[in-house]
Amino acid sequence: MFIETKQLTKKFGGLVAVNGVDFSIEKGKINAIIGPNGAGKSTFFNLVSGSYQPSSGQVFYKGKNITKLPPNKIAELGVARTFQTTNLFEQATVLDNVLVGHRLRTNSSLLDAVLRTKRFKREERRCMEKAMEVLDFVGLTHVSDKLAGNITQEEKKRVAFALALATDPEVVFLDEPAAGINPGETEGLAELMEKMVGRGITVCLIEHKMKMIMKLADKIMVLNYGEKIAEGTSDEIRNNQAVIDAYLGG
Ligand code: ADP
Ligand code: MG
Repeated sequence: MFIETKQLTKKFGGLVAVNGVDFSIEKGKINAIIGPNGAGKSTFFNLVSGSYQPSSGQVFYKGKNITKLPPNKIAELGVARTFQTTNLFEQATVLDNVLVGHRLRTNSSLLDAVLRTKRFKREERRCMEKAMEVLDFVGLTHVSDKLAGNITQEEKKRVAFALALATDPEVVFLDEPAAGINPGETEGLAELMEKMVGRGITVCLIEHKMKMIMKLADKIMVLNYGEKIAEGTSDEIRNNQAVIDAYLGG
């Protein structure tokens, strides 16, 4: 088992946002979570990545119980994520956005930086190489010197991918990566996700764009009012009556 949740539950006061969810994320595949607004999809991501502590239940990563680990420790294990809205430093270049995001995770101390030690310079070079590499991977080399405030919505989505990829993750959680972009751009992002899987990275995404999901996802979980109402392949989900009633019907 790669990533597994057992009876994962999150309550906010009287509201049960995620309710006893058992789900297994398949390694090397594109896993998707769908469901109406407020179904608990983002909360589920927050629980798996450690941003929220569950009210009950567990999360296992490669057999290890990571339920109580803080987000930075989970990230170090190879779990990366993007957020529903990407906050970039709009007055900084695309490259600097990726560099800053990456440098926060290096081993240099502030003293190393001030003294510009060999170690600092070595790490700085490594950070630059990594940033250039991930920007190339996501197809943004040509805008790396532009201010992040001046790039398109679709390019911002790609920067979010680059930030996640800079950590050399084993799995990337993408929260509505294709929200607010046009069908052609959505197709491009879908190709990028397939490219990630081609590199051995596991993808788990939340998405409302059904056409994209049905084509792209190997495994889909459907949440409704915090509960898993179905899981399976695109064909199984498309023909599931509970899913049609709760989500696809309208
Ligand atoms: P989705 O991503 O499926 O649209 P969310 O996971 O964001 O849904 O939210 C699920 C439910 O939990 C919603 O009713 C939302 O209002 C509630 N919720 C999410 N985060 C919090 C929070 N930090 N505090 C209180 N309620 C929250
Ligand atoms: Mg959400």
